[in-house]
Amino acid sequence: MTTASTQGFATTAIHAGQDHDPTTGAVIPPVHFSTTYQQDGIANLRNGWEYGRSGNPTRTALEIQLAALEGGTSALSFASGLAAEDALLRVVGRPGGHAVVGHDLYGGTYRLISRLWGPWGLDHTVADATDPDAVRAAIRDETSLIWVETPSNPLLSVVDIAALADIAHDAGALLVVDNTFASPALQRPLGLGADVVVHSVTKYLGGHSDVLGGALVFADPELDERVRFIQFAAGGVSGPLDAWLATRGIKTLDVRMRRHSENAQQVAEHLQAADAVSRVYYPGLPDHPGHALAARQMSGFGGMLSVSFEGGEPAARRFSESLRLFTLAESLGGVESLVNYPWDMTHASVRGTALEVPKNLVRVSVGLESVTDLIADIDQALTVVRS
Ligand SMILES: *Cc1c(COP(=O)(O)O)cnc(C)c1O
Repeated sequence: MTTASTQGFATTAIHAGQDHDPTTGAVIPPVHFSTTYQQDGIANLRNGWEYGRSGNPTRTALEIQLAALEGGTSALSFASGLAAEDALLRVVGRPGGHAVVGHDLYGGTYRLISRLWGPWGLDHTVADATDPDAVRAAIRDETSLIWVETPSNPLLSVVDIAALADIAHDAGALLVVDNTFASPALQRPLGLGADVVVHSVTKYLGGHSDVLGGALVFADPELDERVRFIQFAAGGVSGPLDAWLATRGIKTLDVRMRRHSENAQQVAEHLQAADAVSRVYYPGLPDHPGHALAARQMSGFGGMLSVSFEGGEPAARRFSESLRLFTLAESLGGVESLVNYPWDMTHASVRGTALEVPKNLVRVSVGLESVTDLIADIDQALTVVRS
């Protein structure tokens, strides 16, 4: 089914790319495991299908779904978020080139840019992405890209996508936005001027902590074509079952993101009122510095929040290890609530860099459980922290 641009988001999420199987009428399109396709004569391909690395119908169905949801011209599905990022950097970065990167990023993204791409010749400058002037000041003649997350990981800073798109385009550079935390249900960066959206499909899009995946969504078919060639030539594609699990997760994205946002708002307000807590980082709180911008640029504030403790590192560690319903684990965006101590877990690799995270910080992925149970668990953990 093709997607009319007037369709509601939830309708698109359920139907884009999901044509019923023409041979059997199966409502759910089959998972295509075949790695190769019969040719109707030498190099005479049936509907273009040839070999699993160059194309797979289950992967294509996911790509159609992703492009429709982000409002892009096309999308590419990869084996992981970092595989997607690396393929993109091969096109938008180059030896002798320069990237401006936000000050608060997923640790693995910064590791990829600084430790893999740096020695290969792509220089970078870290800038406070919440300050458009700081980003503009970091641009050099050879800058070809600006890379940001919003809300960012783990400090939940909100970045003005439209302002940074203008700055990038004035400089002849591209704006890359990692939309993992918000998901297209809450924020569509391409509509605000971004050139490429990056996703860790592993998080909210998959939504059930059971599939690893990455995606790129493009506003420009020419850029898509160049990255598509990298994907074909270097091979970082997602497998068919992974693509299918992502597609299945995305069908409920709209309803999940609403509930994630509702639960997170209540958890954030509850934590803010607790005396052991020094600060809650959640864009849905009116005193968050990015609140007004988030209210303008997003249709909900999402399920991620961070919290810092007056008792410093010991209190943060104690809180993280005392929660019972929130599982101590990396990753985010699943139906179950998770707690993470970034300093020693997700962001250990950025210690000693400009992206170092506070030691008294705990990051929480608020799941879809009954919020009263989540709050009761937080209260018992706070009691341990105070004891
Ligand atoms: C997890 C994550 C990534 C990396 O994705 P993988 O699927 O783990 O490779 C990139 N960006 C953000 C914001 C993430 O949370």
